[in-house]
Amino acid sequence: STRAQRVLSALDLPGDGQSIPGVFDGDWKGSGEEMLSKCPATGEVIGRIQSATAEETQDTIAKTKEAGKVLRAMPAPKRGEVVRQIREALASKVGELGDLVSLEMGKIKSEGKGEVQEFVDICDYATGLSRSMAGRVLPSERPEHVIYEIPNPLGVVGILSAFNFPVAVYGWNLALALATGNSTIWKPSPTTPLAAIAVTKLIQPVLERNGLPGAVASLVCGGVDVGKEVVGNPSVDLVSFTGSERVGKEVGKAVQDRFGKSILELGGNNAVIVDKDADLSLALQAVLFAAVGTAGQRCTSTRRLLLHRSISEQFLSKLIPLYDSTSTLPVGDPLEPSTLIGPLHTSTAVEMYETRLADITRNGGEILTSRQGRIDSVKGFDGSKGGNYVWPTVVKPKLDDPCWKQETFAPILYVAEFETLEQAIAINNAVPQGLSSSLFTNNVQSMGKWLGPEGSDCGITNINVGTSGAEIGAAFGGNKSTGWGRESGGDAWKQYVRWSAATVNYSNKMPLAQGVNFGF
Ligand code: NAD
Repeated sequence: STRAQRVLSALDLPGDGQSIPGVFDGDWKGSGEEMLSKCPATGEVIGRIQSATAEETQDTIAKTKEAGKVLRAMPAPKRGEVVRQIREALASKVGELGDLVSLEMGKIKSEGKGEVQEFVDICDYATGLSRSMAGRVLPSERPEHVIYEIPNPLGVVGILSAFNFPVAVYGWNLALALATGNSTIWKPSPTTPLAAIAVTKLIQPVLERNGLPGAVASLVCGGVDVGKEVVGNPSVDLVSFTGSERVGKEVGKAVQDRFGKSILELGGNNAVIVDKDADLSLALQAVLFAAVGTAGQRCTSTRRLLLHRSISEQFLSKLIPLYDSTSTLPVGDPLEPSTLIGPLHTSTAVEMYETRLADITRNGGEILTSRQGRIDSVKGFDGSKGGNYVWPTVVKPKLDDPCWKQETFAPILYVAEFETLEQAIAINNAVPQGLSSSLFTNNVQSMGKWLGPEGSDCGITNINVGTSGAEIGAAFGGNKSTGWGRESGGDAWKQYVRWSAATVNYSNKMPLAQGVNFGF
């Protein structure tokens, strides 16, 4: 369509069904199977991508490793300068790349752009980091000795990303990996290869201009097989995986099996608790965005809404009409600035949404919104025939329904009531996942409890802020089945380096630690 053509040509991507190489190791190639990129709003094929073969993947890993040796020899602040130039390249195309994310992934225009902005932001952070990633100098118990803790690059970071943040997740990892002196190999989601190719094409000239090999930021498009090649290769020192709990469990085991390092950013099952003393209008806005935004396809989307019994009816009487109103939540083309609800990413996701709702009602649960299910025609948007649109829905499942413990990656919000904050925290923590959580309250004692050892067990524990929409400043990640490790800000960079403890003796004696005597 001309709509797709416009977005693709703004980034110099062919839009006429021509085959695009999906492997970059300094040169563009790809002789594996052809992968199709489909627009979730229309169902049309917008790209044909040549994926990597197993051999090409192994070869790219070897080239990435060699490129890492060049990068690690570059002083860290110079690497930071390269990251700053990558930031500039991205910033000059925020709108164009954002639109490609909307076209290929399906999220609305401002969120597509927002995700590219997140990449820009983490580059700023990493540029500063390149001059401040400090090791430590520690006192020694031995006279005229000193102990250093020194961060050095790991080597190669493998980045395996999910479909729902086709740009930002790579950005978080790339910026930190480059600043800390590692080369990267990216295996994007098989359903968002165009975003990966466009980003790599923007980075490539920056590397070239700075005399760095292209394989410092290499790319292998492909499916499960290509992912397995990256995960299993001992040259990939750190595997940073973002995706489902099911795949993450497999990846974690495979990396552990070869004693590699991993960061696992897996599924969430995020709750908002609205207590009796909350500002309900704040909570309402936060819940609406976090539950409905991105059509429920964020790892931090609100899945569970826990309402204090005294405000439950009042809160729902405001929330449900918002779900039921097309003027509050316009459904349509994600590329139209007024649209707030775009499509689900795939038709499989629509089936999972339908199955989940059918199971909940069969188990005796109640659907609270007047609209539910697939949306067959989206008005005012000519290409909607094959689109994966569904109505965001609020439901009250039975308390023993299995849905409470599982992540369904779709806009379904489960509601339950509670009597005491302790009970609400227990419900919040009673799921396998531990990514994001929010408490709405104006009570300082409740805040303290929520943030302390008796509080939420998640990696994100917001107060009067929804579960989604984190900034890059803090370390991002979860606990329990959400996985292991942190990305983005905070101390996340410390996972991208190997730490050495070095005791240095500047005396002319050889004393031993702990007073051990060995005859000298
Ligand atoms: P997915 O698990 O289906 O795929 C993720 C990646 O793994 C893809 O690149 C895929 O090709 C690859 N892969 C699949 N099998 C593999 C294997 N055996 N070995 C190696 N790689 C393999 O996830 P998805 O559907 O793309 O993404 C949605 C999921 O991601 C949700 O569960 C969501 O919560 C999660 N997510 C988590 C975070 C977070 O930060 N915690 C962020 C975004 C998404």
